[in-house]
Amino acid sequence: MPSLGHKKILVVEDEQDILQLITLYLEKEGFRTVSAKTGAEGLRQVKQEKPDLVVLDLMLPEMDGLEVCKRLRSAPDTALLPIIMLTAKAEESDTIIGLELGADDYVTKPFSPKTLVARVKALFRRLERKPDENSTQYHYGDLIMDLARHEVREKNTEVPLTAKEFGLLEQLLRNPGRVLTREILLSTIWGYDYYGTTRTVDVHVRRLKQKLPSLNDAIMSVKSLGYKLKEPC
Ligand code: CA
Repeated sequence: MPSLGHKKILVVEDEQDILQLITLYLEKEGFRTVSAKTGAEGLRQVKQEKPDLVVLDLMLPEMDGLEVCKRLRSAPDTALLPIIMLTAKAEESDTIIGLELGADDYVTKPFSPKTLVARVKALFRRLERKPDENSTQYHYGDLIMDLARHEVREKNTEVPLTAKEFGLLEQLLRNPGRVLTREILLSTIWGYDYYGTTRTVDVHVRRLKQKLPSLNDAIMSVKSLGYKLKEPC
């Protein structure tokens, strides 16, 4: 397994004791760390330090973790930045909101630092396992997407897609389990200088689902943000 030691992790947490404990354990495992005590400072640090992952506390003064998460997901540069949310309460609703807003994982307080480190490592491993840019085929249930042949087959029957639908499907299959905002989909598929509205994305997602019934439940809408393809079982 490649060393994770070169990875830089930003920890956003306003409680000094917890912040120290987390950074101590991460550094003990060879990670580099940077820290922030408010949401606004966290956003600044993301820009300046370009971390590989963010550990983000939900309860922060002024701007809370959900808002930070939402802002990171909405900006093209940070739309796919891995985020682990620390939820203060064991309340399901917070966790669900966090995941809906695009956190990749969450750890409920109180937690042992070892658990958090394990989740950080697991997330890095999960992300490194995903198909890379050079992959030419994606498999998902009954679906095979062949990029080299520019072909999509469902249950071995070819399904004709438009260029935009093809691009949309490729982005979803390349990032299973991750929230793709309408903005990031627009900029990657339509291009940065496209002047259409984000509604365009919704229309194409709907058509894609109609053409590929096996993805109908797998492509999930993420409230006020965009779409996510369920991770394959
Ligand atoms: Ca806090």
